[in-house]
Amino acid sequence: MAVQQNKVSKSRRNNRRAHDALVAANPNECPNCGELKRPHHVCAACGHYADREVVAMVDEVDLDEDAA
Ligand SMILES: [Zn+2]
Repeated sequence: MAVQQNKVSKSRRNNRRAHDALVAANPNECPNCGELKRPHHVCAACGHYADREVVAMVDEVDLDEDAA
């Protein structure tokens, strides 16, 4: 196992971590359905990207199909 030679001071440690903050997502509106979606990604709600449907969406998923 690698062992550090010198103690890292609080200042040096905190300076290293100064760039570690998470940034919030920046969702934008789907031009087709108006749902918020990730930029440059297919809309999860309607499957559209750049004004055309690229992922076919099912209208309704029946979760009880083996209950009958
Ligand atoms: Zn959409």
